[in-house]
Amino acid sequence: MSNFGDLQSLASSITAVTSPFRNYLTDLYEKYRKLNDGAVADYIPELALAKPEWFGICVVTKDGQVFEVGDCDKLFTIQSISKAFVFGLALEDHGREYVNSKVSVEPTGEAFNAIVLDEATNRPYNPMVNAGAIATADLIEGENGTERLKRLLEMFKRYTGREHDINVPVFLSEKATGFRNRAMAYLMRNFGMISDKIDETLDLYFQQCSILVNAKDLAMLAATLANGGVNPVTGERAIDERYVQDVISVMLTCGMYDASGEWCYRVGMPAKSGVGGGITAVVPGKLGIGTFSPLLDAKGNSVRGIKVCQDLSQDFGLHLFNVAKSERDLQQWIAGGNGINDW
Ligand code: GLU
Repeated sequence: MSNFGDLQSLASSITAVTSPFRNYLTDLYEKYRKLNDGAVADYIPELALAKPEWFGICVVTKDGQVFEVGDCDKLFTIQSISKAFVFGLALEDHGREYVNSKVSVEPTGEAFNAIVLDEATNRPYNPMVNAGAIATADLIEGENGTERLKRLLEMFKRYTGREHDINVPVFLSEKATGFRNRAMAYLMRNFGMISDKIDETLDLYFQQCSILVNAKDLAMLAATLANGGVNPVTGERAIDERYVQDVISVMLTCGMYDASGEWCYRVGMPAKSGVGGGITAVVPGKLGIGTFSPLLDAKGNSVRGIKVCQDLSQDFGLHLFNVAKSERDLQQWIAGGNGINDW
């Protein structure tokens, strides 16, 4: 990095520590820290070990400023959040038309693990429900399972700027108990929607769900999409510019399980959640939000994560369709009134 780059990142981190926006996030953290509604996922024993008090909020702006409050380094499994990004890689591997011939982009209104396919075309409904995510994983290129997993991990590294590992006990548990996912894979195989590498693809799917991330990674994933596919801190391109809109639009319509309509209405940000307790939310052209709190509501979304995103959306007018003036000027809050950020 050049000296100028060093100075620039130093300036950004100082802003991130001193800005009024950081104080705002701290207040938000305090506001929802005591909210104990919901329950941690327990469909496999490893997830049931999550502590209800874990809570982290991270925001990364399009120009690479990072604001973190709470447990932003705590690792947890990415689970369904992986689905959005693997969809992006499948698009890069095969292009829009081919991917769409295997996976539709319609919201289901059904639970994420529903065993349903579109009756007319036999396609799974969208890449964010399990059936669609397995069909999407099937499309990931590579000589063998190891190669395909390596490509996924490299992709996540491009988005977050750091190496990722798999939580092996979670992977093995998902694999040992994932009969429903296995049933969906065989149903799709029956209709010729996926290849015959069924076991390899299911392993890949269970592994992608078991990738370890933290709240900061989730904010970085979202900020990279918000920034047109380029990680705003490392400057590395994570996904072909052409497919950013595909990923973001499916996140908006299908990303929050069968609460996606309500989320769109109340929060208005393309987002994806996972049963590990994470939410990644994109404010296109502006910033990415990552939240982590493992207490989930009945639909599988993080209770505190929803609250945090809802407040951010309302307080700064970040709802995608908010055409009225925002209540607070986020740029000023971040820059401390200096107006140094050009977005
Ligand atoms: N690994 C989970 C499954 O396939 C996905 C969990 C999630 O929705 O985050 O059942």
